Amino acid sequence: MVKIAIAGAGAMGGRVGMQIAEAGYDVTLIDYWTEHITNIQQHGLNIQTEKDTYHINIKAQLPEQIDEQYDLIIILTKAMDSEAMIEALNEANAIKETTAVLTMMNGLGHEERFAKIIPKSQIFLAVTMWTAGLRGPGQILLEGTGTIELQRADGGEDYRTEAINTIFNNAKLNSTISDNVFESIWSKATLNSVLNPLCTILDKTINQFSLYEQARQMVIPIIEEIVAVAHARGLELNFENLINKIEAAYPIESQGLHYPSMHQDLYKGRLTEIDYLNGQIVTYGKACGVATPHNEMLTHMIHQLELTYKK
Ligand code: NAD
Repeated sequence: MVKIAIAGAGAMGGRVGMQIAEAGYDVTLIDYWTEHITNIQQHGLNIQTEKDTYHINIKAQLPEQIDEQYDLIIILTKAMDSEAMIEALNEANAIKETTAVLTMMNGLGHEERFAKIIPKSQIFLAVTMWTAGLRGPGQILLEGTGTIELQRADGGEDYRTEAINTIFNNAKLNSTISDNVFESIWSKATLNSVLNPLCTILDKTINQFSLYEQARQMVIPIIEEIVAVAHARGLELNFENLINKIEAAYPIESQGLHYPSMHQDLYKGRLTEIDYLNGQIVTYGKACGVATPHNEMLTHMIHQLELTYKK
């Protein structure tokens, strides 16, 4: 039977893991958060949906407890913890030559960092529109619906691509195989690079941000820099599509009532994923000679706030 590990089993890892487990697959949740893992081991994973609250029994382990090899490992830590997680999986001998290591994390450049540890042909990238929340250790909150797009990071395809897609669809995760997952990843990263830092710095919900008459003028230069960096790297992004996607998030019936996840991370005293969004744009921009002053300033401002709020 296919063995699947969810490495980083917070809100999203919990969602993906529990949906795959409910479809009948052998799933293990792996996480560094001892209280969370102990809770799941003792009581099962507590799931709260719009309709009800229930528990499911699912295997859960700390990285030092890993004792199996997996066919599919889904990395859903926060971006800054992902390399340490892959190192831990590697040291525990959990990654075989045939293991597919897929990430669905937000942000850019994961495949380059992962490729320092495992061959690129084992790395799969996915972008998801699913969301999830964490209520406390062992408790996740699941609302709404979503989709997943996936592709092997080197652009190739093999039997694992279809197999992963089938697993996700059996788990009702609405998955498709993409022929240009980078476009979708950069498109989502653009949305996150605009709304996450701006709403966090301004302490506003997405809708509150949009009520300022000049909101569009604030957003345009950030997007222009991202489009220019993508172009220099050989990826064509459509500026109009990007701005439309961002503005589609403004209404309260859409995502308007929410503070982006960066805002939540900051005010909980956690580090944010800024270095994998605007910060990665700055790094790429420097490497290909494209100036990115707006993205650089946003990165600095979020790092300043992290110093203020870090617990
Ligand atoms: P999360 O914060 O829920 O979990 C990430 C990690 O943080 C887990 O390993 C978790 O155990 C640990 N953690 C969380 N709270 C903790 C606490 N109080 N003490 C100790 N450890 C704690 O993150 P997430 O939302 O699942 O995000 C994982 C990845 O998925 C990120 O790259 C994120 O950007 C991406 N993502 C998230 C969503 C979403 O709706 N949550 C949607 C799409 C993509």
